Amino acid sequence: AGKYSTLGAMPTERTFAMIKPDGVRRGLTAEILRRIELKGYRTVGLKLYQIPRETAESHYGEHSAKPFFGELVDFITSGPVVAIALEGENAIAGWRSMMGATNPANAAPGTIRGDFATSVGENVTHGSDSPESAQRELALFFAEGELLK
Ligand code: GDP
Ligand code: MG
Repeated sequence: AGKYSTLGAMPTERTFAMIKPDGVRRGLTAEILRRIELKGYRTVGLKLYQIPRETAESHYGEHSAKPFFGELVDFITSGPVVAIALEGENAIAGWRSMMGATNPANAAPGTIRGDFATSVGENVTHGSDSPESAQRELALFFAEGELLK
């Protein structure tokens, strides 16, 4: 029995999720929020947001040397996004698992990218990839007063 004793002990985490401009334009907002609610994550921050260019460059700073960086910043600032702060057990990896692989060609059916996207550049959602990224991205997109305690 001891070997199973940690199964229920996943950490409560906060993560940054985002519906990208393609998802908003295509009317996928309600479907994606529905999936989040059905999964059971708590939404502790939520807003429609036009990302300033400098914020986009900072958010995607790790990709600044990549050939697609300019295109990525142009795209993410091309229209409003829905910025979401999620809370729940194992929320960081769990939300990434709901999104599916970065390239929709490799994303399993049943995942958001697997079900709704065909292009790596326009893959509908974002999710933080680690506790450090989650903390950095939540602070970049939300003022303290915009997040529930
Ligand atoms: P993510 O964490 O799964 O979103 O993936 P990454 O952090 O590796 O990349 C950030 C975003 O850059 C991805 O979600 C894609 O939308 C975009 N991206 C990644 N690779 C490419 C590429 O080769 N071309 C273009 N246009 N966009 C890309
Ligand atoms: Mg990433």
